[in-house]
Amino acid sequence: MNQQPNSYRTGPDERGHFGQFGGRYVAETLMPLILELEREYRRAKNDPAFQAQFDDLLEHYVGRPSPLYYAERLTDALRENADDGMGAQIWFKRDELNHTGAHKINNCVGQILLAMRMGKTRIIAETGAGQHGVATATVCARFGLPCVIYMGATDVARQQPNVFRMKLLGAEVIPVTSGAATLKDAMNEGLRDWVANVHDTFYIIGTAAGPHPYPELVRDFQSVIGKEARAQMLDRIDRLPDLLVAAIGGGSNAIGLFHPFLDDPDVKMLGVEAAGHGLDKQHAASLAGGSPGILHGNKTYLLQDEDGQIAEAHSISAGLDYPGIGPEHAWLKEIGRVEYTSATDEDALKAFQLLCQTEGIIPALEPSHAIAAIVERAREMPRDSIILANLCGRGDKDIFTVAEALGVQL
Ligand SMILES: *Cc1c(COP(=O)(O)O)cnc(C)c1O
Repeated sequence: MNQQPNSYRTGPDERGHFGQFGGRYVAETLMPLILELEREYRRAKNDPAFQAQFDDLLEHYVGRPSPLYYAERLTDALRENADDGMGAQIWFKRDELNHTGAHKINNCVGQILLAMRMGKTRIIAETGAGQHGVATATVCARFGLPCVIYMGATDVARQQPNVFRMKLLGAEVIPVTSGAATLKDAMNEGLRDWVANVHDTFYIIGTAAGPHPYPELVRDFQSVIGKEARAQMLDRIDRLPDLLVAAIGGGSNAIGLFHPFLDDPDVKMLGVEAAGHGLDKQHAASLAGGSPGILHGNKTYLLQDEDGQIAEAHSISAGLDYPGIGPEHAWLKEIGRVEYTSATDEDALKAFQLLCQTEGIIPALEPSHAIAAIVERAREMPRDSIILANLCGRGDKDIFTVAEALGVQL
């Protein structure tokens, strides 16, 4: 067990480790790129002009700050099934209202500014469901940089609307046929392209994973979620929430919400992985059902067999089916600062419908997993307690999946 640190917010160490997790397990050819990126990121992080440029785009292009919203009717609905005096207040951070409909744009804006600062003229990215691909293609169009998106051939076939969006935005989508032809294979291909084209290319990674310094810089860019939420809570009701909840694919929206609160001892945190068909069947819960190993340049929890072969993840929500998790989460679990649970496809579908009907908000299937966990937790907490969840994406993209799951013909 690690010793309790004085602050939970100082990591990673200079070699990119969060406890035993993280690091940069990359081919020697990649090492100089990673070191250059780290050097440039340190400079940018300490440069007020860079921060000002980032803040300006978040305000006027992304539409930040996103609202903080008290979900009164959802709160009341959950209280109906709670004992007297029980049933926490449910609040949402409305990141589904961002331009492009999710939190991913925050990170893409930060990384493309970094790319331009480094003089890079070509952007590459990996994508699974296509959400990160669309966000990357969006910022590339905004800044006039050519954009290449690696996407597993299986995903290309099942995510046609997002493939078309990326093309409309001017990106080239390259189907990857190696392995299972899904997200992890697309990420491998992205890393290969980067090594071959390092002189002009910047690789925008879509979640808080990958080799150091990616988990740190993605976290920093997404921390705008938690910084805003913390200030908005204090401003609105002069107190902090009792419990933060967020869905976890690779963990970027969750760490973005959690990080600014990590040193507030009274704020508990719950990350919600995708339990798919169930933890004993096909799922995407790397912490609950995986074991430590190395993938995409960092040590973390992974879904793998005894030989270290990466297993295919499954979730009804395309954005959660990554077979790994960001290394900072693996560490936060190990030291016990954050609790992790999971929700099944079925739980998420029910929660999705509940939010539609109580609040007039159609959420993405990813945060529907967080809402499913809230349904369980709210009734165990007294009425004057507060749960704050990140509504990290809107559900327009998911209505066909939901219709199929509900047996509705569109
Ligand atoms: C991609 C995505 C996720 C999962 O990614 P994280 O890095 O875990 O945040 C969650 N929600 C939405 C809406 C997404 O698009």
